[in-house]
Amino acid sequence: MAFYSDDVLQDLKQQTNIADIIQQFVPLKRSGSGRFVGRCPFHNDHSPSMNVNTQMGIYKCFACGAGGDVFKFIMEHEKMDFKAAVEWIANATGFQLPSIHHAENPKNAEERSLVRELNDLAADWFVEQLPHSEKALGYISSRHLSKETRHFFKVGYAPDGREGFLSFAAKNGFSPRQLVEAGLAVERENGGIADKFRDRLMFAIENLSGKVVAFGGRILDKEKKAPKYLNSPDTALYKKGEILYGLSKSKNEIPKAGSVILVEGYFDMISLFQAGVKNVVAVSGTALTEKHAEILSRYTKTAYLVFDGDEAGRTATRRTIEIVLPQGIIPKIVALSRPNGEKIDPDNFVNEHGESAADDFRAELTHAEDWFSYLSRISPTDTVEDRAKFITHIKSILVNIRDSELQNQYLRILAERFGTRPDFAGIRPEKEKRKFQKEDELPQAPPKSKSPGKHSLRWNSDSSTWSSPPLLFGKRPAPSSIWISPLRESASSLPKFWTSCSALPSRNTRKQNRSI
Ligand SMILES: [Zn+2]
Repeated sequence: MAFYSDDVLQDLKQQTNIADIIQQFVPLKRSGSGRFVGRCPFHNDHSPSMNVNTQMGIYKCFACGAGGDVFKFIMEHEKMDFKAAVEWIANATGFQLPSIHHAENPKNAEERSLVRELNDLAADWFVEQLPHSEKALGYISSRHLSKETRHFFKVGYAPDGREGFLSFAAKNGFSPRQLVEAGLAVERENGGIADKFRDRLMFAIENLSGKVVAFGGRILDKEKKAPKYLNSPDTALYKKGEILYGLSKSKNEIPKAGSVILVEGYFDMISLFQAGVKNVVAVSGTALTEKHAEILSRYTKTAYLVFDGDEAGRTATRRTIEIVLPQGIIPKIVALSRPNGEKIDPDNFVNEHGESAADDFRAELTHAEDWFSYLSRISPTDTVEDRAKFITHIKSILVNIRDSELQNQYLRILAERFGTRPDFAGIRPEKEKRKFQKEDELPQAPPKSKSPGKHSLRWNSDSSTWSSPPLLFGKRPAPSSIWISPLRESASSLPKFWTSCSALPSRNTRKQNRSI
């Protein structure tokens, strides 16, 4: 019987939050980090006897003994066979199952297993090559990585030359073409095939079950005109927006610590882990994605963002804040520096603090800045226009937070600090925005006008607040579905917008200034 391969099933299981699935049938209550309880649907349960563990991906009823993984739950609850349950879950989570009736399927399964075999072979080979390179060894010791750590993380070295791994793989029966498929070799302009990773320190990137699915290669020769980091392309096994470096090693440490530390680089992650700070993952080679955040949210609700102090680091920090908040993760920002104030990354910090690195680092975490203060501090808010832009931006982040009480708390802080209204008038959540783009029958946003027309914010002299017009689409819209005002649509329209606001009756001016 044709069926989905183990790889596909593992992927689906890893990408599925079991609590989300079970919650479609049984209300669940959080009982700890990554843990939920609910009334068991498989016996006449009066107290919540069913436990759900999102990290392990299992449920268990302590009264009747029902239990298993997410496939088992759907099979039992929906009275489906295994294949139907797999398809039901894939459909519910938007997971792309390969078509098992399609002629290409055996090829896909074959490709995945080929890529897996080649990755294993390459990982071992890179690790073996490292001691043969003085340059690589020297570099590793300058970064203070122990031999144990190096082996634990499968840090290796890809020698210079075009055919190092190619010829080793050939001896093991793999063709150059297969190496290209696995992302380990590249086609050259002259038609030949060469090793993709050459003269680079190699980091093995593992999926949650600890299987090597890709590599990141760091250049060792600073003089070379080549990118500092080179990553595997997406392959049959690897999608870079779905894998966080180091999570396979730290996934059990994160719930224990009650938080995750997000860092930028491979060395940051490994150094902290080696020093004893193990609840750490790196966002290497890519920006944090919604999928990353969703995966992390199964393990913890607190993330320390420890990115570099440069402009790129600040951009990454801002972006990460916006990505993790909707997933219910509260970001806290940590800036590491030397006693003289010079900003440093976690790897430098660990190396410079030696024996006391772990304790010193944890002490830094206690001084983390909350995300709200951080954004207030780095965003210009001196002028009315800047403040309006800032408030609209913050609200557009808050509107996506699913925990409504948390959302209210933040709105209140925003209102207190900036004298704005604690609501979302004029702001629409991301989800709704997407929905609106899809569904034609829903009212469309009016064309963006250069000057504030009837759709822009209005001053309400009774309540001393700004508001959107109440009858935007002919009927009173829910607050979350009101079209976003020109304030958010275009920052460049702000001066004009403000000019026309200034033309309001003068008796309002005092109140107006106070409330903005
Ligand atoms: Zn039960």
